[in-house]
Amino acid sequence: MNAALVLAEIHDRIAKACALARREPDEVTLVAVSKTHPADAIAPLLEVGQRVFGENRVQEAAAKWPELRERYEGVDLHLVGQLQSNKAEDAVRVFDCIHSLDRSNLVTALAKAFDKTGRQVPCFVQVDVGEEPQKGGCPVKELPALLAQASDADVPVIGLMCVPPADIEPAPFFAFLDKLSRDEGLDGRSMGMSGDFETAVKLGATHVRVGTSLFGGRK
Ligand SMILES: *Cc1c(COP(=O)(O)O)cnc(C)c1O
Repeated sequence: MNAALVLAEIHDRIAKACALARREPDEVTLVAVSKTHPADAIAPLLEVGQRVFGENRVQEAAAKWPELRERYEGVDLHLVGQLQSNKAEDAVRVFDCIHSLDRSNLVTALAKAFDKTGRQVPCFVQVDVGEEPQKGGCPVKELPALLAQASDADVPVIGLMCVPPADIEPAPFFAFLDKLSRDEGLDGRSMGMSGDFETAVKLGATHVRVGTSLFGGRK
């Protein structure tokens, strides 16, 4: 597959969804989710200018990305998977943004990691919109308290993130996350994956996390 064509097609689909929603394409950041794919499969996208990538495991990212960062300037690496508190420091060293802040002890662990590393990374709070605790995500009714704690601890929250339940229409969940983030005064909305990113863009996504449509299937 030709990386330039694949990337152009995704940007085109984002632009068309933006046009329908009277939004500008530059309001939407494409996070290319490269989890499970080796550096060789990622480099072609870097070659054609993609710079924002997503990984879901701290160790895998720490193994793959330092070398890619040496070869390509301006990489912006996002953690899109669940984060254990004991990996918070490693995550802060490897990632430039975290999409999966979802509980009190992780706020504490990240605040400590920021202190220790002297680095601070922006976070999205993941919200459990479908009441599926196994996926992670903060229960909706606990969100205000978590945001208050993050603010007190100087953990910068730039938006909300969700992964709606599989196999049902995602639009109501995206609309819900959009409203929730606006009600909380947050600008960022990380929502939409390969199967539904156009719907998410129409409903206000600022960050779409696309893996399969860019890289093909994962083993
Ligand atoms: C893997 C993953 C994605 C990308 O999913 P695709 O369907 O391959 O586009 C997006 N978000 C999260 C949280 C993921 O774990």
